[in-house]
Amino acid sequence: MTNPVLAPWLKTQLESLLSQRGHAWLLSGPSGLGQFELALALAKTWLCENPAADGACGVCGSCHAVEVHTHADLCMLLPETLSLELGWPLDEKTQDDLDAKKRKPSKEIKVDAAREAVSFTQFTRSRGDTKVVLVFPAERMNGITANTLLKTLEEPPGAVKFILATEAAHQLLPTIRSRCLGHTMHWPDFEEALVWLQTMSQVPEGDGGGKKAAKPLSPDDLRTLLIAAGGRPADALAWTQNQNAGELARAWQGLPKAMARGDVAALADWAPAQALDALQKLCHDVWAVNNGALPRFFRAEDLPARNPTRNSAYALAAWSKDLAQAARTVEHPYNPGLMLEAFASRARIALTPNKA
Ligand SMILES: [Zn+2]
Repeated sequence: MTNPVLAPWLKTQLESLLSQRGHAWLLSGPSGLGQFELALALAKTWLCENPAADGACGVCGSCHAVEVHTHADLCMLLPETLSLELGWPLDEKTQDDLDAKKRKPSKEIKVDAAREAVSFTQFTRSRGDTKVVLVFPAERMNGITANTLLKTLEEPPGAVKFILATEAAHQLLPTIRSRCLGHTMHWPDFEEALVWLQTMSQVPEGDGGGKKAAKPLSPDDLRTLLIAAGGRPADALAWTQNQNAGELARAWQGLPKAMARGDVAALADWAPAQALDALQKLCHDVWAVNNGALPRFFRAEDLPARNPTRNSAYALAAWSKDLAQAARTVEHPYNPGLMLEAFASRARIALTPNKA
């Protein structure tokens, strides 16, 4: 068994982290930059029997145990929903409760799980010299959970190392942040991310890569999806795994013009929350272009012509405010169909202001 393919920009960050000493790291940055993958690669290297300067060997017993999610010296502190999604085992009691449908899996990191992690750090090691606790997303710990972990994080017993990864460092307790060495995730270069996306979207599932897309995506579609994800490669990869990723890419390209016409059909396949996210990105980009900046989520050629008038500025400001307001109810819409219709007609008003 070999190491899963680590994106090139994560590889350089792994080497840099390995060259520094530290028993507790906090990897932070926006979603989609690969903090979980980097955290796991670091944990795997710490546990590896023959680690190199650039990472784990990928072939020793320890590496194999990490690969098959059964390493006794690795504690994965994740929300239950994420453990299930990524195939990391839950403790027996939790699994029994969920199997018996006594409750739903938690989206938060539960205080019980943090207590388990603390007692894990106190057991004797089973394989090598090191034990690792990996926490992700660290912002899903509430105050009680975080405090449970705090003392161990401050004075870890013997050879225990921590790695926390977060997509919202500002939501962490300052005491947690101050106990860790901080690492800010690097943004990959756009073209480099595109090459990676192209490779990964063709890797069959179970090969350390993404699921195989239904149809191979054209370079143009891949570029569109990476732009739509704001240049965050892991987010773009998730989109390429959608069965209709090609159509999604084309729909994204056509979205600005469809919205200028108030055409609700363009939103028909989307959940209100997805539609809202797309419209907030569109609002951002139209605003940017009108102010002489580059768009971030759409190709310039797909956007309405630049309109730096005062009327347009007012219309966009009002739209932005309405979208922020809609965000409060979008997860539980009264009527999803009506909400999408309202989105489309609101977008048309914002995108076709009176010329003045
Ligand atoms: Zn190894």
